[in-house]
Amino acid sequence: MKDTFKHQGLRQQLVAILEAKGIKDKNVLGAIGKIPRHLFMDSGFLDHAYQDKAFPIAADQTISQPYTVAFQTELLQITPDDKVLEIGTGSGYQTAVLCLLGAKVYSIERQHELYKKTSKFLPKLGYRAKKLIFGDGYIGLEDEAPFDSIIVTAGAPFVPKPLLSQLKIGGRLVIPVGDEVQVMTLFIRKGPKEFEQHEYGEFRFVPLLEDKN
Ligand code: SAH
Repeated sequence: MKDTFKHQGLRQQLVAILEAKGIKDKNVLGAIGKIPRHLFMDSGFLDHAYQDKAFPIAADQTISQPYTVAFQTELLQITPDDKVLEIGTGSGYQTAVLCLLGAKVYSIERQHELYKKTSKFLPKLGYRAKKLIFGDGYIGLEDEAPFDSIIVTAGAPFVPKPLLSQLKIGGRLVIPVGDEVQVMTLFIRKGPKEFEQHEYGEFRFVPLLEDKN
């Protein structure tokens, strides 16, 4: 597993592209500048690792586009020691970004192959999530709730209720909502039953699958 000067240079170009597209959070840009994204992808795609594009990983899934990762992470407003739940571990790239920002990360993945692969891979790179879970993100993680923030990295046909109820007061849920195309949506919990909702334009994700699929 190598990270060369060439990779580092390409990464800085990617950071510049994300800045030009409107990402402002220096900590988020810093994390993307540090994480060797090429190591999260199959070797056939190494040359593409620092393009601002999504790419296939195992089990018919994708590693999200860097802009999308940056956009969602910026909306979370992570501060060190925040307790964060991620739905859709996938390659672990988004997990690594959250770890680098100092979050205590819990991440759920429903594809066993990806869960196994990423559980072995992340610690090798030095990214230690609090817990990677093989399970269904629709039900969240009641045992560890409440969370400072929750990020969903697959397209949700609707907003799962457990995710809203597992937020702290003041907590933030970032979730792409929709079928073919998703609207990036931020919920901020203002009280036991009050949520503020903001929408941020359209994105495309692989679907958040329910048990029956
Ligand atoms: N964060 C990932 C994105 C992976 S794509 C990355 O940076 O690579 C979305 C992931 O969500 C896929 O790995 C998919 O298997 C997973 N997923 C889909 N439905 C799910 C569900 N109900 N619960 C948990 N994970 C799910």
